[in-house]
Order: sequence, then C-alpha cells, then structure tokens
Amino acid sequence: MNRKFFAGFLILAFLGIAGGLVVFSADATDERPANVVKLLSGIQREVRKNDSWVESVIQQDYTTSVMAKLRLRSHVELRFVRSSEGAETQEMGFIGNIAAYKPKTDKLLIPLQSNEADLLDAMDHELWHVLFDSDGVMGPIFESQFRGPTTTEIGQYIHSKLNAPIFAALRKEIEEDRGVVESDSKARLIEERLGRVIKECMETVERAHEKLEDVIKEPELVAFRVGDDEKKLEDRCKELKTAFAVTAMDLQEAMARLSSSKDPRSALHQWIGKLEEHNARVPMMYEAVDKIDHVIDAYTAHVRTKKYEDLLRQLDAKIAQERNSQMKQIWIQQRKSMERIGKPAADTLRQSVKQMRKWAAGMEKKTIAMVRDTNLSVVDQTLHNPNEVMARVVDSAYSLYYGVPIQNKYPLDETDLKFLERFTYEGKPLFRKAVEKYRLGLQMISDGMKAEDGKAKLEYATEFAYKGKAYSWPESKFTITGTPPYEH
Ligand SMILES: [Zn+2]
Repeated sequence: MNRKFFAGFLILAFLGIAGGLVVFSADATDERPANVVKLLSGIQREVRKNDSWVESVIQQDYTTSVMAKLRLRSHVELRFVRSSEGAETQEMGFIGNIAAYKPKTDKLLIPLQSNEADLLDAMDHELWHVLFDSDGVMGPIFESQFRGPTTTEIGQYIHSKLNAPIFAALRKEIEEDRGVVESDSKARLIEERLGRVIKECMETVERAHEKLEDVIKEPELVAFRVGDDEKKLEDRCKELKTAFAVTAMDLQEAMARLSSSKDPRSALHQWIGKLEEHNARVPMMYEAVDKIDHVIDAYTAHVRTKKYEDLLRQLDAKIAQERNSQMKQIWIQQRKSMERIGKPAADTLRQSVKQMRKWAAGMEKKTIAMVRDTNLSVVDQTLHNPNEVMARVVDSAYSLYYGVPIQNKYPLDETDLKFLERFTYEGKPLFRKAVEKYRLGLQMISDGMKAEDGKAKLEYATEFAYKGKAYSWPESKFTITGTPPYEH
C-alpha cells in the first residue's frame, strides 16, 4: 500500500497496540474496549463518506442474533487482525498492508495497530477492491445491476491516464524502487547464506575439536599418541574459530551501521559490498573447515585403529592361550562382535550432512525468489494492475487528492471525473459524492483556494453551498453494532 519498500531491513509500521485492549468503554452496555470503539467509529465515518452501495454490501451487524444474520443482504464482513500477524508478515519481507480486502474469503481485514490514520486512509482504496472483486465475482461491478465501463474500457482508460507526462516522475521513482527491491532481495540471499555458512563452519570446527579432545583424553591411548600432532590440531581449531567469530562480528557491525544510516539506498549498496566481500571467501571457509575436519577424523581413526588393532591382538592372544573351551568360546564371540562394531558410521553421517546442505540451499533460493516477486509485484501494480490503479483513482476522488502523482494517490481531472460518472448500480451513480466534491474542489482551487483547505471543507461534508449552488451529500447509512470477529 504505502511506499514502504525497505520492509526487509528497516523497522517499519505495525507497531503493537501496547496493551490498549484492556481499557474498557465507560458505557456499561458496551463491552467493547475503548480503542476498538474509537477505531470502529473512524471506520464508520469513512464508509459513510462513500456512496450508498456500501449500505447493502458491507456487513453492519456483528451481534450474535440469528435473525440479524438472516436479514443481512450484505456479504462483506469486517474482520480484525491482531497486530502480531502483521509483524510476522513484515519479517518475511512482505510489504505490510494497512487494511486489506481479501476476495477469496470476502473479508475486509482491519489490522489492530497504533497507526489508525494510515488504516482509515486505506479504507477508500479497499472499498474499490470490494466493488471490483473479480476473484470471487461478488463485487457489485460484476452484477447485472451494474451499468458502466467494461473491463476493457477500464484498461484503456488506465493506459491513457498513466501515459500522461505528469506520471513520468512517479514512473522513474518506481523503477528506482524496483532496483532497491532487487538489491534488497540479493542482499538477503547472501546475508542468509553467509550467516548459515559461518554458523555451520563454527559448529563443524567445534565438533572436530571435541572429537580431538575426546580421543586425547582416552587413558588407554597414551601409548598410541602421535607426538605433538594434537597440539598443532588444537591450535588450528582455535585459529579457525576466531576467524569465523571475527567475520560474524564484522558483519554485525556493518548491519548496525546500516540500520542507523540516514540514506538507506547508499547504505544498502555498502552492505551488499560488504556481504559480497565475505561471500567471496565462502569456498575458502568451507575448504579450511573440511580440511581440519578430515585431518582430525584421520588422526582419530589412526589412533583408534591402533587401539582397536591392539585390542584384537590382545583377544587373539587370549584365545590362543585359553585352555578352558567354554571361556575360549566367549573370547571368540567377543572378537566377532568387536569386528562388527569396528566399522565406522562416519561416512554415512558425512553423506547425510551433504544432502542436508544441498536441500537447505534449494529452499533458501525459493524463499528469496518468492519474497522478491511479492515485493516487486506490489511495486509494479502501482502503474500496471488495473484493479490497483482504479483503487488509487477512486481513493483519490473520495480523499480529494490534488497533489502530484505519488504511489498511492493521483490527481484527477475532468476526464477522470467523467469516467467515474459512468459507473452506476441499480440506476444510481456509484461515485456521485466523490465526483461532485472533487469537481467542486477543482473549481474552488481555480478560484484561488488552497487544495488542503478545499479538502478540509469538503471531504466529510454532507451539505455545502458555493457560489449560489447548494449541494447535498448525505452520509450513507452505516452503523456497526457488536464487534467484528478476529481473523484466525
Ligand atoms: Zn489495493
């Protein structure tokens, strides 16, 4: 929705509601928490500002009464979403929604979050999505009572609107954002890989070191020690562990600098540079770790083989010397089981670790590609997806937006208003109030009024008079009773 494309690495919206739910309204008959009451009244105000189609389409009664439910013709249900769900979505790298209509379930999701202004601002946009629900084909625009532009005509309108020179700057900005999304995804790919590599390498060295210590500590092995080899191996293990810790710290510091940077784009480039520098050393890291791992394995095997062979030799001697035939049998059995146990499982283990590494790398690539595609599609839809462009046009009309084109709002002119006037439902214009107010606003601006003053006067006005002409824009009848349920 908003221009929050740095979601992957900057901390953004979706602040929690900080315990607000425990504050209850003073009205004894109203069990709803005060913040919910306030939010619902804000939503009501936004919905009432829209034209009367909302009355029959958006569900108003959320009490448990069965009769109330039966009386409903409306099908779009409001649903609260707990803020934590939003935070999770953000962590996955998706761009957070302020409010969102979900055509598949026909629900209008309202995240409970502290930024109420953003949420309410998104309502006009989402209400277009309700109208133009082509997925569920439940939107009024797809019903027989609708008269107006076909989807082809909508496509043509959007094409000519967006090709106007006024959109060039926005187009350029969006291209830059595409670049940022691409770089961000790339950075996260390397970042995750490096994190994993460093962790994996440290763990492997740690394991190798433990193996070495174990074998050194075995008291029966003293006779088989191979000089000062284990001292050298131990030193090499320590060196490697320090090297990986330094790499991890270096990356951590670079990350901290990135988070505090005032220029996220250049910081992102520096971060990618740093990541690539470390990433280039990954083969060397693996090589060093694999080497130490193998050397220690070989050393351990060497020492253990000596011990094993010696034990076998001792058993052979016992068997040869034993006079008691029963005891002799016992020694023979023991020798056989020692032979079986002696076969090391290390090869099998190493094979499965290799498989795991391969599998993890594949999963990681798929996840990153998915995150990147989602973010890119959000960037792209600003100027390509007809549903999204129309949502911005209708939102701009109801919000009386007269500024330069930005990602979520565009300025409109008489051509746009004429186009919006063609949308009717049951013979009534779908956007009458928006078109009349916007047109009047244009007139007031050309008469010298500031755009923000025009918006302040008109956006929620129900009656207005200007230059001898009277306007009537009654609020749509929309009153929420009960509390919308939570989305699970
Ligand atoms: Zn949208």
